[in-house]
Amino acid sequence: MACPGCSSPNVERLSHYWEALPAESVQRARYAPPAVSQAPALLVLGALLGGVWIAWTGQVLWGLGVAAAALVWGVIAIGAAIASQARRDEWASTQLCLTCTRRWT
Ligand SMILES: [Zn+2]
Repeated sequence: MACPGCSSPNVERLSHYWEALPAESVQRARYAPPAVSQAPALLVLGALLGGVWIAWTGQVLWGLGVAAAALVWGVIAIGAAIASQARRDEWASTQLCLTCTRRWT
């Protein structure tokens, strides 16, 4: 495979290049994989159950409001987790040109 920018054959998979870098290399931060965020499933479930419990004990509107907020929070957190996993997958399939530092997938 050759670089699409400079046609150099000196190309490596970005993840392999990054893993082979020494720990003290300043390039480690530059080429590091994007962080993957986890959906806070237990916190969301706790808030949801808390809302149901509040509604059950008499404060129906408050309880439903808390439960609805927990559902919205859960949907947003799952969306963020999926997006961060997609960025990580793209990083894992990215190629790096060692001549001109161009990156592509
Ligand atoms: Zn190149």
